[in-house]
Amino acid sequence: MKKKIIIIGAGISGLYLAYMLEDKFDITIIEARSRVGGRVYAIDGHDMGPSWVWPHHKNILSLIDELGLEIFPQYTQGYALYDTRDGVEHFTPPPSMPSSRVNGSLGSFIEVIHKSLKSTKVLLSQEVQSVEEIDEGLSVTTRLDTFKSDFAIFTLPPRLVTKIDFTPKLPESLQQKMSSIQTWMGHSAKCVIEFKDAFWREKGLSGFAYSNNGPLGEIHDASTADRAALFGFVNSNAQMDHFDDNVKEQLSRVFQVDSSQIISIHLVDWKEEKYTASYEDRKALSQHPFYGIDTSQYSDKILFSSTEFSFREGGYLEGALIRAKDICKQIG
Ligand SMILES: Cc1cc2nc3c(=O)[nH]c(=O)nc-3n(C[C@H](O)[C@H](O)[C@H](O)COP(=O)(O)OP(=O)(O)OC[C@H]3O[C@@H](n4cnc5c(N)ncnc54)[C@H](O)[C@@H]3O)c2cc1C
Repeated sequence: MKKKIIIIGAGISGLYLAYMLEDKFDITIIEARSRVGGRVYAIDGHDMGPSWVWPHHKNILSLIDELGLEIFPQYTQGYALYDTRDGVEHFTPPPSMPSSRVNGSLGSFIEVIHKSLKSTKVLLSQEVQSVEEIDEGLSVTTRLDTFKSDFAIFTLPPRLVTKIDFTPKLPESLQQKMSSIQTWMGHSAKCVIEFKDAFWREKGLSGFAYSNNGPLGEIHDASTADRAALFGFVNSNAQMDHFDDNVKEQLSRVFQVDSSQIISIHLVDWKEEKYTASYEDRKALSQHPFYGIDTSQYSDKILFSSTEFSFREGGYLEGALIRAKDICKQIG
C-alpha cells in the first residue's frame, strides 16, 4: 500500500509537490481557502498575484512548457512616465532583465496543474490547526476533521506555520527564525484596470509609470492577447476610501485618458488576506530579503516547503519549485 502524505496548502508549492509525488504516494491536499492557487490568483483572466517569470527561472519555465502553456514578453516598448508634483515627465527606463508572462494568465497555469492531478484529493475550505506525531505516523487536524498520514508537508508562508499547534513543539530557534521571515509581497495590494483598448501603446508609451501622487505607485502594462489592461501596485499610504474614483483620476491625469475608456477595476489587498499575510507582514520591504530556512533538525515526517523556505530564488515562483524538488528528494 502507498504511504500517505498530507500537503497543507494548495498554492503552487502544494500543487507541484502533488504533481511530482502522486505516482508514489497517496496524496491529500488540505487548503484553507475555497480555491486553489494561494498567491497565484486571477480575476476574470487578470493576474492579481504574480505576473512575471524571468529567463534564469529555469524550473518554472520548463514546467510551463511541460504543461503545454506558452509565454510572451512583457510589453515595454515606448516611454515610461514619472508622475511628479510638478507634472508628468517622460523618460526611458534603464534596461532591466526581460520578463515574460503566461498566455492566458498564471491563473490558468494553476488551473492546468490542478486539473493534471490524477489521484490527489484536494479538500478546500479546511484550515489546518494542528499536527501531532503519534505512534503510527501523524494526526493532522482541521476545524472539521482529523486525518492520519505518514508525512505532512506544510506549504504555508513561515509566519503562518508558527500559528499551527505542533506536537512535538517546534524548537524555539526554528520558531523564531520562521517568525522573522517576511512573507514575500504580503504587504502588497495589486490593482488591475481593464480598458477598451491599449491607448497608451498608440501614444508611444509602454504603460510603465511611477507615481507618488495617487493610489498606484508603480504601473505596468498587463494586457493579454485580446484584453487591454494596466496593473498597479498600490502605494502603502493610499486612501482606500473612494479607491476606484481615485484610480480613475490618477490614470486620467498621468495617461491623459478619459475614464469612460475603463471597463473594470479589480483590487486584491494581500495584506488583508489571512491565509497569506500576518500582521507583521504589513511593513513594506526596501529590498528582497535573504530567504531559506533549515528545518532538518525538527522532524523527518513533518516537512516545510513554501517559497520562503527556499535558499535559492526564495519569494519567487521559482523558489517554490526549487524547495519542492528538494523536499521530494528528501521524502524519496
Ligand atoms: C502581488 C504579488 C505579485 C507577485 N509577483 C511575482 C512575480 O511576478 N513573479 C514571481 O515569481 N513571484 C511573484 N510573487 C510571489 C509568488 O506569488 C509566490 O512565490 C508563490 O505564489 C508562493 O507560492 P507558495 O505555494 O509557496 O505559497 P502560497 O501561494 O502562499 O500558498 C500557501 C497556501 O496555503 C494555504 N493556507 C494558509 N494557511 C493554511 C492553513 N492553516 N491550512 C490550510 N491551508 C492554508 C493558503 O491559502 C495558500 O493556498 C508575487 C506575489 C504577489 C502577492
